[in-house]
Amino acid sequence: MRLSKMHLKTLREAPTEAEIPSHVLLLRSGMIRKLASGIYGFMPLGWRSLRKIENIIREEMDNTGAQEILMSAIQPSELWEESGRWYAYGPELWRIKDRGGRDFCLGPTHEEIFTDIIRNDVSSYRQLPTTLYQIQTKYRDEARPRFGLMRSREFIMKDAYSFDKDRDGLDASYDSMYDAYSKIFTRCGLTFRPVEADTGAIGGKGSHEFTALSEVGESEIAYCESCDMAATVERAECRDDAPTPDSVEMLPMEEVHTPGTKTIEDVASFLKLDKSQTIKAILLEKYDEEGKVSDYVACFLRGDRELNMTKLVNALDIPEHAIAFADEEKMGSKTGAVGGFTGPTKLHDCIMVVDSELVGQKNLCAGACKEDHHIINVNYDRDYKGDIVADIKTLKEGDACPVCGAPIKHTRGIEVGQIFKLGTKYSEAMGATYKDDNQEDHPIVMGCYGIGVTRTLAAIVEQHHDDKGIIWPISVAPYHVIITLVKPDDDVQRRLAEELYEELQSEGVEVMLDDRDERPGVKFNDADLLGIPIRITVGKLAAEGYVEYKLRSEADKREVPKEVAIDETIELVKSGK
Ligand code: ATP
Ligand code: MG
Repeated sequence: MRLSKMHLKTLREAPTEAEIPSHVLLLRSGMIRKLASGIYGFMPLGWRSLRKIENIIREEMDNTGAQEILMSAIQPSELWEESGRWYAYGPELWRIKDRGGRDFCLGPTHEEIFTDIIRNDVSSYRQLPTTLYQIQTKYRDEARPRFGLMRSREFIMKDAYSFDKDRDGLDASYDSMYDAYSKIFTRCGLTFRPVEADTGAIGGKGSHEFTALSEVGESEIAYCESCDMAATVERAECRDDAPTPDSVEMLPMEEVHTPGTKTIEDVASFLKLDKSQTIKAILLEKYDEEGKVSDYVACFLRGDRELNMTKLVNALDIPEHAIAFADEEKMGSKTGAVGGFTGPTKLHDCIMVVDSELVGQKNLCAGACKEDHHIINVNYDRDYKGDIVADIKTLKEGDACPVCGAPIKHTRGIEVGQIFKLGTKYSEAMGATYKDDNQEDHPIVMGCYGIGVTRTLAAIVEQHHDDKGIIWPISVAPYHVIITLVKPDDDVQRRLAEELYEELQSEGVEVMLDDRDERPGVKFNDADLLGIPIRITVGKLAAEGYVEYKLRSEADKREVPKEVAIDETIELVKSGK
């Protein structure tokens, strides 16, 4: 492609709303174009890179035996009513009506649609296992679209669904997808880590997220250096501290005056206690399907712990959008809660969720449900009980690894893919069954597997850039080589550049020829910004048949004969790295 003919507009500055390097650079290099909040289009270079990612995904999916199809983005509400997700998916589901008032949504994911296909097409065990996938545009009306392609409202996803006879079959399908994902992200040039994950609104048991490591990532990962435990912080189990020894007696409860001590820090320092000797209360309200408050929820954890919202909604078995922090005043009049002084012994008319660790801890200090007062020597079972007792705490950095006990570390990453063992959640809800040898019906056992294709593009840029621009890995670069023609009106230079252009293209190398009538500095800056992996500069040395050869990832430049530049380019492009 000749740059003089190319539709390309690079920007000196990115709009101020772009906060992270990938967003800034994809906009500045003219690869993507914003249309509205969280809604982007792809310009020629961005679209080329995106299609390369898609093709890597396609090849690896096809290698597993999965078959590609394409379903509509528009989905009728009836299927979502059947699975129970028309309500459970919440406000992220982009709902639309047709002119007759019939409800549809723009698909955020396609479990219902694929289950519907299989329940219609599959009847016998002989037709299983089977895996279908698509690469398609998805819609989620995200509360906070941000970081460009990272969290957008319209994005491209690869979604695959496996259908097996039994759990063993599902395990095999899952493992084969796990391997394919590792190959895909490696080929895309990403440094990533598969970690155990929560199953969220998709449902089912057993899941991994593939996380591209990055400081700007929105996924927080807890991992252990002494064993191979690695999980999202949302999901990571937290080991309960050892119970107070039997030799310690439960002391009688006693109300104490603790003026102005509204926080755990305040009360601990006022009473000269460690935070771990206190009970923290967190108050929430739960909503019904109409969005009205249906219950109040009080969570209790040890004062040094933090609430894990994902674990809490799982324990309550409700979607995340059906709960929020409570309006304390309203809650107080119904339940006896007193802002800053709420404790478990006096609270009434609410769902009490108690962290499992509290059960074994004796003589703790908790709020007295009375302004400026606490109660000391509070003990589980004797003084209060939970409607639900579960691990609802966050595994923090330095906490004991739930597997081996060593101190936990945290790191951040971008979730580029997630795989789930769905089991029979959708097949049972929607009646997708097969008949075995004896003509008996069984629910089909499902898995689902997503990759954020557009988010992967952003993650690659996040991991491969410097202050001048993008540094594409060869495998996903929009073009492999850029030939910078220093003086387009110099016949010798132009002839050599044209020869290089033709010869490289005839070898299957993807070449950009910067034949624009621009100053060399502008051309070099654009080449760096666009991140084309190899730059061949044709300038003064053209008369001797020499060019300058430079890799975008390295500072070194070399003056080499044209033929050497061609050979090295071909070799590098073939290596695919
Ligand atoms: P997140 O936790 O980031 O909201 P998710 O877990 O809801 O994502 P999945 O349902 O697992 O997402 O979707 C599969 C993949 O689609 C994700 O791993 C991610 O790469 C991508 N994805 C999800 N939401 C978005 C979005 N708003 N913008 C871009 N990509 C997304
Ligand atoms: Mg996910």
